[in-house]
Amino acid sequence: MLLPGFESALLFETPEEIYARVFRELKPRTPVPEMHVEFCRFANADSFIRLENGRLRMRISDLLAGAPAPVMESLAYILLGKLYRKPVARCYNQRYRLYLNRRDMRRRAHLIRQIRGRKFISGPRGTVYNLEEIFERLNRQFFDGLLGMPRLGWSRGVSRSMLGHFDPSHNAIIINRILDQPGRPALALEYVMFHEMLHLQHPVDHNGVRRRVHTKEFREAEKKFPELKEAKEILKRL
Ligand SMILES: [Zn+2]
Repeated sequence: MLLPGFESALLFETPEEIYARVFRELKPRTPVPEMHVEFCRFANADSFIRLENGRLRMRISDLLAGAPAPVMESLAYILLGKLYRKPVARCYNQRYRLYLNRRDMRRRAHLIRQIRGRKFISGPRGTVYNLEEIFERLNRQFFDGLLGMPRLGWSRGVSRSMLGHFDPSHNAIIINRILDQPGRPALALEYVMFHEMLHLQHPVDHNGVRRRVHTKEFREAEKKFPELKEAKEILKRL
């Protein structure tokens, strides 16, 4: 099948040839380096590109090993665009994301994460707070005790970028260790835990390209937390 907008060559190209063609388009005055494409058993759909001794090396998630040529081409624009800081046309981003967002691809990605992704989970007991106690308390207060307890743990390091996250592949809530320090009010931690517990309850909305994590219903449910404003203030000052 030939779709409008695709070059007919696309259907007969190896991945290396696709990269070489996209390279020529992005950098017409630069000689095309040797291309090496390798499919790797990563724990997710990430792919990497690197210039190594004059050779371009692409390490691509084997989730994409069977991807149609137009998807491989889109990834070539994305990776080469990233490496050479060239803007990537919207259609390529869109085509790539749509493919990864397909139900069968999401299922495979989920399985691969489960099987390959080794996950460090510290256990619920921190220096100051015990996540199990907090989970149970919030579960009774806001969810009629109905949420099943996932695996609970503290992050390995301290960071300001992510305070907590729910990982559906490992059914785990991981809370940032920055919230487990003496003098840190429990309110901040409770709010972050409450937010992650809402993720247990509200599945991610996959709507075409967009992946909506914080839906309108999610935001409404979050307002049930009585000291939302105070909690957010504390988190801002971390
Ligand atoms: Zn969230």
